[in-house]
Amino acid sequence: MNTERVAHLIRELLTEFGEDPNRQGLLKTPERVAKAYEFLTGGYHQDLKAVINEAVFDSEANNMIVARDIEIYSLCEHHMLPFFGRCHIGYIANKKVLGVSKLARIADYYARRLQIQERLTSQIAREIMHVVDAEGVGVVMECRHLCMMMRGVEKQNSIMSTSSVLGSFHNDPATRMEFMELIGRTMP
Ligand code: ZN
Repeated sequence: MNTERVAHLIRELLTEFGEDPNRQGLLKTPERVAKAYEFLTGGYHQDLKAVINEAVFDSEANNMIVARDIEIYSLCEHHMLPFFGRCHIGYIANKKVLGVSKLARIADYYARRLQIQERLTSQIAREIMHVVDAEGVGVVMECRHLCMMMRGVEKQNSIMSTSSVLGSFHNDPATRMEFMELIGRTMP
């Protein structure tokens, strides 16, 4: 990303708002916003292989592995406003497991770009399925969307839930139920 060019565009935007980009409080704002966007959209420029960094380990276990309450911060692609919340990931290993921090890194990799929550949820699920060749994967995400809270319908307390279930999590109701119980949800 060309941060200098983005800063220039933000400066133009400030003028469109009716602001004076030369007033003291705003002087460094274009650069700050450009750097913030560089971070928040960093997923576009990251190498997923480097993110996972060979943290895939052999394992004989085939029990369910669950990581709850992974914090998610992303930007909605319709308004470029944040949505944020929690993600719960479960999978059943099939000879390979993933280092536990890598689940969160994969979530960030897909969150740090313009997204819709539904796609983010399924991209995380498909990536884990692919990386460890899992028997099954389940991802549940619950987020608040600032574009709904600050504008539009102004629903301050609504939380949007999305889920993606693959493999045995999709085909076997008992597996899916075990996952939902482990993340503290009852079946809808
Ligand atoms: Zn939106």
